[in-house]
Amino acid sequence: MKINTTPGRTLTGRLQKGEDLLRGLEKVCREEKFRLGELRALGAVARARLGYYDQGRREYRFIAFDEPLEIVSLVANVSIKDGEPFVHAHVTLADSRGAAFGGHLAEGTEVFACEYTITEQLFDGAIERSFDEATGLYLWS
Ligand code: ZN
Repeated sequence: MKINTTPGRTLTGRLQKGEDLLRGLEKVCREEKFRLGELRALGAVARARLGYYDQGRREYRFIAFDEPLEIVSLVANVSIKDGEPFVHAHVTLADSRGAAFGGHLAEGTEVFACEYTITEQLFDGAIERSFDEATGLYLWS
């Protein structure tokens, strides 16, 4: 699937220290009623939890990092899942030596500081996530 979109609102702001990174971004998207969009952010986290999708087992494995890390880059898309705005985010984090690693952003990542920009994409309709048999994931249909 592919669709043409036109740029809508661009919203920029920051999350509060102590917020959950993924839930915080999702809350903004729900408050603003974004149906489709792209999101970028940077900053730092007090601790992190990332997911890695095991393609063979068709399940996420989670990795916890209990240390302060830089958000080198966070890229995400916003779409609709179960009728609500849903944020799918991937993040690259760096430690005190500058070593970077990354993955699928999971709940349990605590914001130290986060600056974000969300660009709304407008089109006639909404992209809904639904279960995809081939991957075991909820993908755009
Ligand atoms: Zn992902």
